[in-house]
Amino acid sequence: MPSDSTPTIKPINKASVHRICAGQVILDLSSAVKELVENSLDAGATSIEISLRDYGKDSFQVIDNGSGISPINFSLLALKHHTSKLADFPDLQSLTTFGFRGEALSSLCALGDLTVETRTRNEAVATHLTYDRSGLLVAEKKTARQIGTTVTVKNLFSNLPVRSKEFSRNIRKEYGKLISLLNAYALTAKGVRLVCTNTTGRNVKSVVLKTQGSDSLKDNIVTLFGLSTFNCLEPLELCISDGCQVGGFLSKSGQGNGRSMGDRQFFFVNGRPVDMPKVTKLVNELYRGANSQQHPIAILNFTVPTGACDVNVTPDKRKVFFSDECSILQVLREGLQQIYSSSNARYSVNEVE
Ligand code: ADP
Ligand code: MG
Repeated sequence: MPSDSTPTIKPINKASVHRICAGQVILDLSSAVKELVENSLDAGATSIEISLRDYGKDSFQVIDNGSGISPINFSLLALKHHTSKLADFPDLQSLTTFGFRGEALSSLCALGDLTVETRTRNEAVATHLTYDRSGLLVAEKKTARQIGTTVTVKNLFSNLPVRSKEFSRNIRKEYGKLISLLNAYALTAKGVRLVCTNTTGRNVKSVVLKTQGSDSLKDNIVTLFGLSTFNCLEPLELCISDGCQVGGFLSKSGQGNGRSMGDRQFFFVNGRPVDMPKVTKLVNELYRGANSQQHPIAILNFTVPTGACDVNVTPDKRKVFFSDECSILQVLREGLQQIYSSSNARYSVNEVE
């Protein structure tokens, strides 16, 4: 190839890099709301309200009673890779917060219109903050508010034409995915009252999810899915190794959750909702040995020393690597076999229907 047609390597301008990367952090409505809910949990909130307008298409808002944001952080809040949760790479080893990369608010700025209202216990009044697409603070005014933070995002994906069209077309599906995700946080966030409302075009507001903020997983299951569903579950507690265990609830063999796999199956690592394809496969496979007609409800939390798992794998942090995944799967397999392989755990089609 002649030298004058050789492409030259140039840096991509900062604004474009920001927009390109933001679209990978915030994939859809549920990943956007997830980031805000996690921020509220990280801020120690005991009450979180998620308020959607037109299923999140017009706007969504997360209102918490957490620590609030102090004025020295107002201008830094939505800048890329600015965080109060991690300073150096080794901090990842002992991380206990959901967030640590400082990219959610900056990404939301790049993809929608972001405003924040916040007040700490050291301030007499709250402040309303407006950020531009690059995450810079562009307006600030005093307002009335209790201690805590409200983050509002309007017009998500308005500057990504393909995503925006997809978002509008699939809004009910996106909304369903979001509610399922909120169920996961409602199960895992003990002592946190969680409410989600949706307001449609004609200003009709409906409550889609509401928990009381109980300290026990059992109570949260009863609130979300009802006592009769809870009575169809049995507890599972297994020790995998020193400092590593799994606990939660699974369907009894004759009382599964219908035919659609993945419905009401929630897996957590140290309280963080995650995708665990191998665990999901194992649970469904062993359950099928006892009940071939249905899939089980499964709500399992894996407690693992923070240094023995890596959540910094995908932008949405839903994938986790373990230092000893084999032991986890092996102990779980044996535990599930004990529950589902006993002869009285086998159910015929007639008993199931
Ligand atoms: P990360 O959560 O990874 O730190 P984010 O972009 O989500 O990154 O948030 C940036 C920072 O803004 C956080 O580190 C935190 O200090 C502050 N913050 C965001 N949301 C809240 C909230 N609801 N309450 C208090 N502080 C918040
Ligand atoms: Mg965050």
